[in-house]
Amino acid sequence: MSKLDDIVSLCKRRGFIFPGSDIYGGFAGTWDFGPLGVTLKKKIMDEWWHYFVESRDDMYGVDAAIIMNPRTWVASGHLATFADPLVECKECKSRFRADKIADGITESVTTEEFLDTHTKCPVCGKENWGPIRKFNMMFTTHVGAVLPDDDAETTSKNLAYLRPETAQGIFTNYKNIIDTIYPDIPFGLAQQGKAFRNEISPRDFILRDRECSQMEIEYFVAPDTWEENFEKMRALQHEFLEKIIKLPADKLHEYEVPAEDRAHYSKRTIDFMFDYPNGEEELMGLAYRTDFDLQNIARESGKSMEYRDKKINETFVPHVIEPSIGVERLMLAVLSTAYTEDEVGGEKRIVLKLPENLAPYRFCVSPLLKNKPELVEKARNVYQKLRDKYVNVTWDDSGNIGKRYRKQDEIGTPKCIVIDFDTLEDDTVTIRDRDTTEQIRVKISEL
Ligand SMILES: [Zn+2]
Repeated sequence: MSKLDDIVSLCKRRGFIFPGSDIYGGFAGTWDFGPLGVTLKKKIMDEWWHYFVESRDDMYGVDAAIIMNPRTWVASGHLATFADPLVECKECKSRFRADKIADGITESVTTEEFLDTHTKCPVCGKENWGPIRKFNMMFTTHVGAVLPDDDAETTSKNLAYLRPETAQGIFTNYKNIIDTIYPDIPFGLAQQGKAFRNEISPRDFILRDRECSQMEIEYFVAPDTWEENFEKMRALQHEFLEKIIKLPADKLHEYEVPAEDRAHYSKRTIDFMFDYPNGEEELMGLAYRTDFDLQNIARESGKSMEYRDKKINETFVPHVIEPSIGVERLMLAVLSTAYTEDEVGGEKRIVLKLPENLAPYRFCVSPLLKNKPELVEKARNVYQKLRDKYVNVTWDDSGNIGKRYRKQDEIGTPKCIVIDFDTLEDDTVTIRDRDTTEQIRVKISEL
């Protein structure tokens, strides 16, 4: 088993992440979060929100609708260009994303370039390909009453899309924000929420899924200041990823995306790559989107997107720096950094060395024996006291103490607190450290 398989297995076994619609045999590219997974995910999202929005004077939050007026995707260019190169095997009819099955080609690959790579079909092993075709990755839906026998015109009038990025929900609210909040430039608008991409071949667990959660900021700046603000945003991303989320700096790599591979709206993009168990993959992107989006919205809506800078008495359409990160990608980076196998007392152990601020539970409280009412009662008191103070505290009185430690190690609980007979005498408890397995005795009053 690969390390990724080990992580997938742990996530299912301990209630972090299940395959979507598991009971019906799954549904490709979707994942469901169990009690521990949803807590970890929420903590990651809350840390981001706190770092980039709540603790800053220049950032504001928005939460836009997922289904937007389809003109949004005309203006943004997604209807025309949000497409992947799809190639079909003529032998077995399997469909693939061309740039994912052949080495050394990009999303803009032509049929000839692809055929030159002499790639064999990953399913049947033959080499008999159709032409490269562009496949738009937006999910479609119909809004309002549409019947199966409606004509094509009626049906297409009701056509709408699930948003492929949260960014457009920010851009389309830019005017509402400057007309109501009057923010001083530079300022950022932040959003967290679901985005949908109909990936041709979802793979690598939660790394490439069809439904994901994004955390995006559109940082609006005066046009001639974009470079300094790009550097500012770049430094903030590093600080967030390395200091708050505690990803190891040596597993993070910046990749300057060449012009031909950049998204249609970007003049400069740095991809932040991470060493995942299956190799280096994109963790997040930092893009200079120029005034592309606001100018498109101005054209499509007929409304002015100009900002009046009172300090310098100038009017302009702001340019935008966009840090964009997928929550699930970040979560997998966190999980794969934390996943550790070691040996304790000659036995193999699996331990999730999650940072304290992200671990689903900060403490586990248990009585040494669960059939001694006086121990259970004392342990319940300690549990309640810690819960009131730290919220994320769990109770465990199952099995023997060794089994409890093993379980708490696997879900990443940093400290286990055990109430034993000495506790009844001197009001001290044992605290056992997840990473070192060392135990110390501490007064209950000092917890
Ligand atoms: Zn084939």
